[in-house]
Amino acid sequence: MIKIGVFCAASDKMDSSYFEHAAQVGQWIGEKGNTLVYGGADLGLMECVAQAVKSAGGKVIGVVPTKLEEKGRVSHLLDKTIPTCNLSDRKDILVELSDYLIALPGGVGTLDEIFHVVAAASIGYHSKKVILYNQNGFYDTLLKMLDEMAQKGFMRHNLSSYFLVANSIEQLTEITRI
Ligand code: AMP
Repeated sequence: MIKIGVFCAASDKMDSSYFEHAAQVGQWIGEKGNTLVYGGADLGLMECVAQAVKSAGGKVIGVVPTKLEEKGRVSHLLDKTIPTCNLSDRKDILVELSDYLIALPGGVGTLDEIFHVVAAASIGYHSKKVILYNQNGFYDTLLKMLDEMAQKGFMRHNLSSYFLVANSIEQLTEITRI
């Protein structure tokens, strides 16, 4: 059983197409009997992915900071809850547990998670990459900036050592081979 870490929006104010794509990714995880590892809140795209994973027959692990538990926003869908003291611990556990890490569209929390993974990889803590799920070019602007930083010599390694880009479920399957 493969564990797939997903970073994505806690907001629910976005266009419904983001929810449709998030549900497709969740279904892709669940129908192969794989497990979602994520932030565990019953919010936005996070809850949408978790619901789709469960409906398709997969399992869901939430890595949940105590503060979130106190606020009662923990999803009822979790098969397993891993409590953490703070957000930093949570990110480390998410990376450690996950065989693959996928970033769906999100806000600053998602960006924080993406760069936590990449910054740790860049100094040799692990060799996991983040797959940017680039629905409708959501990550194009970020990729352009990263490319510019690389061209100006600010990256120690090629961008492809840190990031992979998937524009569709088919490309997720090609990249992960699952
Ligand atoms: P954002 O992209 O700012 O909406 O933040 C979502 C990401 O940060 C998710 O991948 C979560 O792991 C984490 N996160 C942010 N806010 C929350 C919250 N209230 N509950 C759980 N996780 C959150």
